[in-house]
Amino acid sequence: MPSSSSSFSRCLTCGKEFKNSKGLARHQNNVQKYNQHQEELDEIPINTIDEFKQIIVSEIHKKLSLSFKTMGKKLVTIPCTESIFFSVFGGHIHYYFKVKEFYKCFFRGSNSYEILSEIFNSEQWGKKVYSQNQVTYIVCLDPISWNNSSQDQSVEEINPLENLLQLSIKKKIIKRRPRFLRGEILIEWKKKIFKEINGNINKAGYLYINFYISQSQNF
Ligand SMILES: [Zn+2]
Repeated sequence: MPSSSSSFSRCLTCGKEFKNSKGLARHQNNVQKYNQHQEELDEIPINTIDEFKQIIVSEIHKKLSLSFKTMGKKLVTIPCTESIFFSVFGGHIHYYFKVKEFYKCFFRGSNSYEILSEIFNSEQWGKKVYSQNQVTYIVCLDPISWNNSSQDQSVEEINPLENLLQLSIKKKIIKRRPRFLRGEILIEWKKKIFKEINGNINKAGYLYINFYISQSQNF
């Protein structure tokens, strides 16, 4: 038996902790089920999926601005059907709540950029090079250990507000883990509800991509 280190019962993808390895195994089993194709979802033609991936990449690129002041947390929102979402992110779904029609995918760790490059069929999906060789990019880091604050990743320059938040997390001033941390990418799909003045209620599926951006000089 391995010594009962804290990682023994923690899910490395979502960070959720379990009392024992059985709990973790059950969680992993559920995750596997979320990624199995459901009959009510449509088969989407491959060309349509590829085209939708290009839409995602171009919407992400719109957020990779040049101005240093705008670095930090970003959100991309794209109308998207559940079937298309599943066609793009199936295999990477980590949370699914059928009743509320809600999915979550977590991408953490330094290899998350490559994984998303494969998903989006694009090496450039999360970076943009400007004329004077500035590169604005999506931050992908190895997860900050939530229990152990010895790991220091704040080598690069980040804006003061964001820095304050990261410091609070490290010093455990903020007790509850935020939905996602700098260096992680959180992708969600859910139904948005629109109430019209005349009382009509419309529901529509949306894709939400959460990430942090930063900038460096390309040499
Ligand atoms: Zn998990």
